Amino acid sequence: MKKINLFLILFIFISSFLFANPFSGNVSLIVIDAGHGGKDPGALSGEINEKDIVLAVSKYLYDNLKSDYNCVLTRDNDIFLELQERCDIANSQAFDVNGYPIFISIHVNAATSESANGFELYIKDDEKKLSLLSKATSSTLISKYSSYNNIMVNQYINKVNEYLASTIESSIKRAFPLYKNRGIKEGNLYVLNQTFMPAVLIELGFITNSDDRSNLINPEWQKKMADAIASAIRSL
Ligand SMILES: [Zn+2]
Repeated sequence: MKKINLFLILFIFISSFLFANPFSGNVSLIVIDAGHGGKDPGALSGEINEKDIVLAVSKYLYDNLKSDYNCVLTRDNDIFLELQERCDIANSQAFDVNGYPIFISIHVNAATSESANGFELYIKDDEKKLSLLSKATSSTLISKYSSYNNIMVNQYINKVNEYLASTIESSIKRAFPLYKNRGIKEGNLYVLNQTFMPAVLIELGFITNSDDRSNLINPEWQKKMADAIASAIRSL
């Protein structure tokens, strides 16, 4: 009986670490990554390019957050950047050693079926979780992770990403209650694997769906979406 109680107490203790807000109000740097750009238009529908939509939303997000946070845009105009260049921009930033850097990549979806619609979020693939720990990992994150043993560090890193993604997901749901939520998915995506900080990629909607498309190109909708993402970040 004593053993069972001890196990239960240990489980509750570990769970509280895994499910509490890992950021604790200490986000110190936000890297905003507008996907594609320049020669790479991203997803297309006629004259409408993903690269223009994601740049507009990224700028609204930057404008919302810049007065209160150290914010960086990987691009602020129509230029082409390699995926590694985006990660280099994120990984080379100086930030408050007591705080968390986060990476937010903004994209627009496309599908062969015109009925596919809604937003979704991506976090690192399970198997890529340890890529967070590298030469470029900040000392803050290393000290946070070092309090966990080897088995727990994987769970912890994934929980941090899940917490970030689910906070953004809830905020978008609140701002757009009727908009289809496709959920949080794990993806083997370059910018998620190679940015050594909590990272999420947001697919705002489908350029191939007529309802989504008319929202995606509407500046009011773009700003409302950016504000929903910003309010999630402010709540971390
Ligand atoms: Zn994209």
